[in-house]
Amino acid sequence: MAAVLPNTPSARLCGSCGMCCDGVLFHAVELQKGDNTRQLASLGIKLRSKKGVSSFLQPCSAHRDEAGACSCAIYEQRPLRCKNFDCQQLRGLLSGSIPETVAREQVQQARSQVERIHGLLDRITPTNPNRSLAHRVANALTLPPGVERGALHEELETTMKGLELLLQKEFRV
Ligand code: SF4
Ligand code: SF4
Repeated sequence: MAAVLPNTPSARLCGSCGMCCDGVLFHAVELQKGDNTRQLASLGIKLRSKKGVSSFLQPCSAHRDEAGACSCAIYEQRPLRCKNFDCQQLRGLLSGSIPETVAREQVQQARSQVERIHGLLDRITPTNPNRSLAHRVANALTLPPGVERGALHEELETTMKGLELLLQKEFRV
């Protein structure tokens, strides 16, 4: 997530997005050498450790979305991965190669697909809101024995594929 200097193009863009924090772009964030694990844990980040690597799952507990206005509750103390991540739209905005209106449109397009997927998940089956969107969709599409795949499952799969293509083409780096 970008700098939060108020009312700058990057703050407006990231403030309208939050997809690198809320489980849309990533499953988890791996900590780097130099990150203060003790401080992050004290700030409420639930760290897990596997093979000597600390990480935390997304959606991040420090992510805030207040009526579409996104922010990081631990912005000054956020991990290095977060400090160093600029998606394609943010990079383009900062370099001047992508106008703010275009970057905002890309975010809006992705976010509206995310909303559609949330709506479909709500209609299909309960899924764990503390897991990434891709994980939740995969769970919803894994049907128990005897349950037949229906039109909502097809729509969910198609919409998720469309979102993944958009994320790959316009956001991932
Ligand atoms: S995905 Fe890009 S635009 Fe969205 S919050 Fe992250 S850096 Fe900002
Ligand atoms: S610590 Fe802040 S910037 Fe990093 S994933 Fe969480 S909300 Fe986003």
